[in-house]
Formats: sequence, C-alpha cells, structure tokens
Amino acid sequence: GQDLELVHLVKRYGDTVAVNDINHVFLNGSYVCLLGPSGCGKSSTLRMIAGHESVSEGSIVLDGSDISALPPAQRGTAMMFQNYALFPHLSVRDNVAFSLHMKGVDKPTRHKAANELLELVDMSHLADRLPAQLSGGQQQRVALARALVTKPRVLLLDEPLSALDPFLRIRMRAELKRLQRELGITFIHVTHGQDEALALADEIVVMNNAVIEQAGPARDVWMAP
Ligand code: ADP
Ligand code: ADP
Repeated sequence: GQDLELVHLVKRYGDTVAVNDINHVFLNGSYVCLLGPSGCGKSSTLRMIAGHESVSEGSIVLDGSDISALPPAQRGTAMMFQNYALFPHLSVRDNVAFSLHMKGVDKPTRHKAANELLELVDMSHLADRLPAQLSGGQQQRVALARALVTKPRVLLLDEPLSALDPFLRIRMRAELKRLQRELGITFIHVTHGQDEALALADEIVVMNNAVIEQAGPARDVWMAP
C-alpha cells in the first residue's frame, strides 16, 4: 500500500558505517518515533528518506515505488528541521509559500495554499510578520506549515521540539499529534526523549550502533533507563 519501506538500507561516510543494513516498514498514517543515543544513525536515516543524503546501498520504497534516486521535492516526503531554517527576509506567508514559488505555482494559488496551512497551525494572524518577530513556538508552527505545504505523504521531523522550553515542548507535542491525526499522513519523528516518544508514538523504533535494535507499539518497546 502507501507504506514507507526501508530495504537493506546502508549509509557510509568513508570508513564510517552510519546505517548498517536496516529494514523497516512505516505504516501509512502512523506516528513513529525514532529513538536512540547520539551517533546511532537516526539523522542519516531521516536524511536518506528525505533525499538530503544519498543512499550507499538498498532502497526506500513509498507507495510501491523506489524513491531513493528522486530529488527531495519529488519524493512525497518533507522535512522539518530542529532550527526551523526560516528565511529571515521573507514574511511568514512567503516562507510557507516558498517551495510552491520554486515549483512555479502562480501567486494566488500559492498564497491560498499558504493561508490554509497557516490556518491549520493557528498562525493566520501573523502571516505578514518576519520570522525574527516571532517566538520560538510560533517559528516552529511556521516551519511545520512550510513543510506541509507540498502535501507530503511522509513528514520527517528531526528533533523538532528540542529548541523549545519545557512548557512549550509539552504544548507542541499535543499540536503535532493533532496535526498528524487530522492530516492522516505518516510522521517520523527523531528524538532522544523517551517520554516524548511514549507520549506521541503509535510505534517506537530504537536504533543503536547503526542498526534497528527493536521496533513495536510504544507500550511494548522496552527502553533502557
Ligand atoms: P544520530 O542522528 O543518531 O546522532 P547520525 O546519523 O547523525 O546519528 O550519525 C551517525 C554516524 O555517522 C556518526 O558516527 C556520525 O559521526 C557519522 N556522520 C554523520 N554525518 C556525517 C557526515 N556528513 N560525514 C561523516 N560522518 C558523518
Ligand atoms: P509576494 O510576497 O507578493 O507573494 P513572491 O511570492 O513573488 O511575492 O515573492 C515573495 C518573496 O520571495 C519576495 O521577497 C521575493 O524577493 C522572494 N523570492 C522569490 N524568489 C526567491 C528565491 N529564489 N530565493 C530567495 N527569495 C526569493
């Protein structure tokens, strides 16, 4: 079906094996948290799925086709980064519309799409502001809207909450979960917070030393203290 499948996926950087032959099926429409210690290969896995990093071996299959050689914008995936990476000189609305602009979508259409997404993340009222005029939580909402504007099947989130203060982090958790349920798309969320994973995930995938150590429903996955 529309599941995302990693098949014998390998990533090497010179002599370093960052991802060592992993296999996994991410069920369509599920919220998956990818957990594990620093350096275990989480970001490399995410970047390969997004197309920001090439695959050394193996394949990435979405909706039945191998997307591993496609450019990022053609994969049906989108990525949201830890530092949000908003363009400082563009308004909130233009930040959200940016990828549509790059695709040559006309202005009325991309503004309409941007406005809808801003509505979804409750940021319509700040559409004309610049990123520097927003709080951390607001920038995060904009980054989410920007990632979602291309209508991805899979949203990849690399430690999306780590820059927020503890209070906001809890609030944004609920927000992410609501969005994922509402959109019905697959979220793959890298974190090293176990409590975060338990609060959010339908499935938890634990990586260690470049391999998947265990995977399963959140309640079944044993985690080291
Ligand atoms: P994690 O996200 O779990 O912290 P990474 O995927 O970032 O793990 O890193 C996995 C391994 O690959 C680490 O040993 C890291 O040093 C190495 N690595 C990651 N990115 C690069 C890179 N661009 N060049 C060389 N080595 C890298
Ligand atoms: P509007 O804000 O009226 O919708 P556009 O969507 O055409 O106008 O452009 C929005 C902003 O994006 C403008 O400030 C423009 O300079 C900037 N912009 C357009 N294309 C690029 C690009 N390739 N790289 C960086 N900025 C761009």
